[in-house]
Amino acid sequence: MIVLAGVLFHSVPLGAFEIPAPMSKAKAADFSVRYEPVRLVNGSPIVFHVTSTEALSSLSGKWLNHDVFFSSDPRGKVWYGIAGASLETRPGNYSLELKGVTTAGKDLSFQKRIGVGKGKYHSIAASVPKQYTEPNAEQLQKIDQDKALKEHAFARVSPEREWTGSFHPPVKAQISDVFGTSRTFNGKTQSVHQGLDYAVPESTPVAALNSGTVLLAQPLFFEGDCVVLDHGQGLLTLYMHLSKIDVKEGDRITSGQKIGLSGGTGRATGPHLHVAVRWQGVYLNPATLLSLQLP
Ligand SMILES: [Zn+2]
Repeated sequence: MIVLAGVLFHSVPLGAFEIPAPMSKAKAADFSVRYEPVRLVNGSPIVFHVTSTEALSSLSGKWLNHDVFFSSDPRGKVWYGIAGASLETRPGNYSLELKGVTTAGKDLSFQKRIGVGKGKYHSIAASVPKQYTEPNAEQLQKIDQDKALKEHAFARVSPEREWTGSFHPPVKAQISDVFGTSRTFNGKTQSVHQGLDYAVPESTPVAALNSGTVLLAQPLFFEGDCVVLDHGQGLLTLYMHLSKIDVKEGDRITSGQKIGLSGGTGRATGPHLHVAVRWQGVYLNPATLLSLQLP
């Protein structure tokens, strides 16, 4: 396995920076939008901070053809929403479209152009046992069952925010494979690494990245013993190849709570922890999410 230093996680976007949207004076006064990380690339999560001059009773957004769900501080002045840009997002400027309703019942709308740059990702070759590249009939049946199960679990989006504060690493260990790496299995089947791998031995306690609700907790063919947490606003975290699961579906989990033990179950070349971040069907770079200072 290739061990990469943290500095390789991100690249500097290629000149796709913010262009202020043309706006009327009235609109300019309504909202101010900040976001993290300041330099976005494809594959990055994004946290929007929207401040309104008038107290709002609701705020919703549209970004890259997805709904963005916002939750406010108790005074209704600062609203937070999590989103992301898929790996497939081309470098360019995209609009965050906001619609709010003031506590007095007035409709407000606002548009913010945000630049997305090009992330720098790697390519490696890897080999896995044959059963995972050429599954037999029984295995294919299990794979189909898992697919239906995952589709069902992922179909629901909980708008309510459950995450709070910054996201924390699930284990204290070296990164063995970063997000976005292209992989070639046995010289064929190409795939892109949609998560972050930690080099941990079997039976290392695994902690929840943030607070949330257990959406799925069971063995799957490729993922092995797998836990999926729903953090609200469409954001999920996935923990794979576990040797033991300590939580069950529906459990409320606090940030840092132990959800199970690491292992090498499912499609794994050996014991390690694969963590993925999924926002409304889009896999995002966990390392970026972990680097953000969040409210
Ligand atoms: Zn992995």
